Amino acid sequence: MSNKEYLIKKTETEWKEQLSPEEFHILRKKGTERPFTGKFNDHHENGIYTCKGCGQALYDSSSKFDSGCGWPSYDTAIPGAIEFIKDNSHGMIRTEIVCSQCGGHQGHVFNDGPTPTGERYCVNAASIDFTKEEN
Ligand SMILES: [Zn+2]
Repeated sequence: MSNKEYLIKKTETEWKEQLSPEEFHILRKKGTERPFTGKFNDHHENGIYTCKGCGQALYDSSSKFDSGCGWPSYDTAIPGAIEFIKDNSHGMIRTEIVCSQCGGHQGHVFNDGPTPTGERYCVNAASIDFTKEEN
């Protein structure tokens, strides 16, 4: 868990008022949604994926690819939008990704991506929202 001070700071009660129970569990308690259940897993429109907690732009739809893992996957993030935290939980060494503005849990990033970046940002659909690009 990062002790960093985030720009967007809210109490647990305030987050609970803003988020659904599932979103709260994932974003604030580092939960994981069941694979193939998230609304953005099979989603291919042009636009920007934003943080469900604070609205910061996190991923461009051009970086989204079909990983087959059951969660929305991106091969990169918008520069500066993501903070990387070493995560040794569950007997694995992984890199947790959180929103750099509110600390909201996104998922994990892995280095087995199939695209030229070699990275796979595995994201909970409940952690993000989507803004469609006009035209
Ligand atoms: Zn955020």
